[in-house]
Amino acid sequence: MKFLVDRMCGRLARWLRLLGYDAKYVDRKKGVPDIIYESLREQRIILTRNRRLSARRGYRVYYVKTDDFFSQIKEVAENFGIKANEEKLFSRCINCNGEIVEAKKDEVKDFVPSFVFQTTEKFYKCLACGKIYWKGSHIALAKKILSRM
Ligand SMILES: [Zn+2]
Repeated sequence: MKFLVDRMCGRLARWLRLLGYDAKYVDRKKGVPDIIYESLREQRIILTRNRRLSARRGYRVYYVKTDDFFSQIKEVAENFGIKANEEKLFSRCINCNGEIVEAKKDEVKDFVPSFVFQTTEKFYKCLACGKIYWKGSHIALAKKILSRM
């Protein structure tokens, strides 16, 4: 299940990535036909608050009814049967949707706070933007969001 997320529901994209789902933003410069073409080509479900997008047929689109972030999470999770899966938690970069892989410890030394480096064994990095992750940083955020679901 992959998503194409309208900027109006931008935080939803970050949350989906956190859970390990491939979630791209809709390119603001693109018109409706291009967005639809992209969703079909990449087999993405469009999540939108835009009635113009959601009113058409022939592609997978979901109109997000609720307004605030936590209601949106709940709504989308229920609608698509999305659940938190610990194994998938580290597979997508929250910032850019890039793929995350395990990083060698000596590779991240210059990019993380020294107390983190000393107390953490496992690190991960985004293949696309290079952002470094570790469980402390990520899990705390995930738990906070999941507890609200
Ligand atoms: Zn990234």
